[in-house]
Amino acid sequence: MAQSALVLGGGMVGVCTAWHLRERGYDVTLVERGTPGRETSYGNAGLIQREAVEPYAFPHDVLKLAQVALQRGNDVSYRLRDLLTVAPKLAQYWWNSFPSRYQGVVTGYEALIRHCLSEHDRMISASGADNLISRQGWKQIFRTQKGFDAGAARSRLLTREFGIESRILDPAGLAREEPALKRTMAGAVHWTSPYSVSDPGGLVDRYAALLTASGGRILKGDARSLRPDGAGWCVDTREGTISAEQAVITLGPWSDVVTRMLGYRLPLFVKRGYHRHFGWQGTLNTPMIDTEAGVAMLPMALGLRVTTGAEFALRDAPLSMRQIDGSERLAREMLDLGAPVEARPWLGSRPCTVDMLPLVGQAPSHRGLWFHFGHAHQGFTLGPATARLCAGMMNGEAPYIDPSPYRPSRFGRAAQV
Ligand SMILES: Cc1cc2nc3c(=O)[nH]c(=O)nc-3n(C[C@H](O)[C@H](O)[C@H](O)COP(=O)(O)OP(=O)(O)OC[C@H]3O[C@@H](n4cnc5c(N)ncnc54)[C@H](O)[C@@H]3O)c2cc1C
Repeated sequence: MAQSALVLGGGMVGVCTAWHLRERGYDVTLVERGTPGRETSYGNAGLIQREAVEPYAFPHDVLKLAQVALQRGNDVSYRLRDLLTVAPKLAQYWWNSFPSRYQGVVTGYEALIRHCLSEHDRMISASGADNLISRQGWKQIFRTQKGFDAGAARSRLLTREFGIESRILDPAGLAREEPALKRTMAGAVHWTSPYSVSDPGGLVDRYAALLTASGGRILKGDARSLRPDGAGWCVDTREGTISAEQAVITLGPWSDVVTRMLGYRLPLFVKRGYHRHFGWQGTLNTPMIDTEAGVAMLPMALGLRVTTGAEFALRDAPLSMRQIDGSERLAREMLDLGAPVEARPWLGSRPCTVDMLPLVGQAPSHRGLWFHFGHAHQGFTLGPATARLCAGMMNGEAPYIDPSPYRPSRFGRAAQV
């Protein structure tokens, strides 16, 4: 008889996990409260970021910290009344960002990022999603000479250390390649290997269709009903209670809802982010991100998607217009955006861990239960790569990369029940 698994949560991470299990012959049921790919995996910047070998570290530069504290910039924002709750997690994040520890984090991150294009390629081709993908990379644009010099130096370092490909564009070169830019910039780094996706939610739809075409089931249900059932697990769905030998939590920023219910106190937090589409009619040859200002401008099916940097706030706190308004203002300095497409911006939460690495592995205190979440800024990029790792381990295979940096038990007592 086929082995069976429940996959709880249908974002990029859950859908890819379910498909990889199905590929291994599992009887798979993916349980989603809404429609797959309509939360964080819908609203992101749609980049498959081969260049993102270094996860975002907590800044240690005093000037940068002062700028953030005073809310002077637009790239990082926070909600004052939530800071006390989030502070212990931020302190651990800060601690893990010291160069001596961060170096190990980068090693673990790069080992995953290295596989992001090949693992997506497999699923893109199997699901016929090539028409959603552009393979032209993206441009990191700089408004200050200091920023540009640092960006160019970093791109040389990433080429040397990790073989990441890029081109450096001076102001004239950038203006020639992107004539829609209204403002003269200090220059750009063109990361040439990443992919961009014109409809991120649409890519998850294609992967979900691939899953059902291969015999996987997608049912509506609430992951909070997960409970042990004999030697396995069960969950309530609209089609009734479904049982399986194994279960995997892929609830992105809601993962803590279920892990807390089971007794875990994992050091998870979110960095929120916003987007809004504009009815811009121009042409950009690649997506562009102005990291100094904290604004991304991404040509997408629904219009030009403008996204923000990180907002430190509780996941369910009310939406604030501050950061998205700032991003819109900054984007209007560079492009004729046109009118907003939606009445209200989209708000989502990047699921973060204090050591910047996702959790992929067996739940420390429950047999047959697996954790697969915490992909922060790159879950859209990493979904297929970590899904292969997770499904392989669930199936008892030798892991295709060393899983130890992502083991949930690394959080010690917080990961024990
Ligand atoms: C502004 C912004 C820009 C970003 N840009 C990029 C980018 O360019 N590239 C990149 O790689 N990453 C990017 N990210 C990060 C990326 O979007 C996330 O890391 C990724 O989408 C997380 O995927 P997930 O499947 O873990 O979570 P989700 O996509 O949120 O999926 C979780 C699913 O669980 C379901 N769920 C929740 N509770 C329950 C329940 N009780 N029962 C059943 N189902 C439930 C939800 O409905 C949801 O479908 C960005 C994020 C933001 C906010």
